Amino acid sequence: MIVLLFGPPGCGKGTQAAFIARRFHIPSISTGEMFRAECKAVLKSGGLVGDEIVDRIVAGRISQPDCASGFLLDGYPRTLEQAAFLDGLVKKMGLPKPIAIHLDVPAQVLVSRITARRQCGACGRIYNMLSQPPRVDEICDDDHTPLTRREDDTEETILARLQAYHDATGPMIAYYANGGCRRVDATGTPEQISREIEALLEAELVPCG
Ligand SMILES: [Zn+2]
Repeated sequence: MIVLLFGPPGCGKGTQAAFIARRFHIPSISTGEMFRAECKAVLKSGGLVGDEIVDRIVAGRISQPDCASGFLLDGYPRTLEQAAFLDGLVKKMGLPKPIAIHLDVPAQVLVSRITARRQCGACGRIYNMLSQPPRVDEICDDDHTPLTRREDDTEETILARLQAYHDATGPMIAYYANGGCRRVDATGTPEQISREIEALLEAELVPCG
């Protein structure tokens, strides 16, 4: 099973990636970190980081033995060229077609979720005034320090981040729409979202015909 996970910042993608990996025994590959490490070396040597390098990194990773019966990719593909490359690669490896899952959350829900984030300046503990509030309003449970909001967790920056995400991901979702990109409503609790993903992927495992 090959799962491609798409979702805007703040949709809980990391949590769901970990859930899918555990539930279906496939490695969860977050390409962001892999790319950052590799690309630093390329930039240092004066090269440009293009699809070719990114594709090569992914091809190297998914040819590892732990990916033999499938894998989850988070953060790749980001361009139509990368998507076409992945299709070819998967076919060559004799693996099934990727299942794309789109964790969809209305912008306003993301904004209220993210602007509800608070952090303790003393111990670094993270709170969410909606889902994990401190016992005393705006005060850290552990050391009674007043909580603060990250400077870039404002409505304006979140909407800008979301716009950038939609510009980049819209074509990916359209690309996988034919192969049945599955939309999952990610406004519920992490557990509800996991159940929905689980049902959807279990249905995929049932052989058709
Ligand atoms: Zn604290």
